[in-house]
Amino acid sequence: MKPYKNKINRIRTFALALIFIGIVIMYVGIYFRNHPAVMLTFMLFGVVAIIGSSGVYAWIGLLSMKTIPVQCPNCGRHTKMLGRVDMCMHCREPLTMDPSLEGKEFDEEYNKKNSQV
Ligand SMILES: [Zn+2]
Repeated sequence: MKPYKNKINRIRTFALALIFIGIVIMYVGIYFRNHPAVMLTFMLFGVVAIIGSSGVYAWIGLLSMKTIPVQCPNCGRHTKMLGRVDMCMHCREPLTMDPSLEGKEFDEEYNKKNSQV
């Protein structure tokens, strides 16, 4: 079984990872303090990564407006889903908005096909 995750949670993890990457890049830059140009380049990349992260957080905010709150049939808790197919945030139960996909194996490809229409 593939390790699917709820989309919103996954994007949030990505944004958090980007902050850490930015900090690590800037930290590496400190090692090059004898070469100001190299250090400045690292610092710049670090800042770009952190700015990118805030951009991703803003994107999550926009996506959150498009999510549909549903009650998970498996664990009974409320979750947010994005697109035609998504996973429950709590128990990873596959959820679908499309009745024709019900009972089918979970496949994120359905979202891609939907976006092309
Ligand atoms: Zn659930």
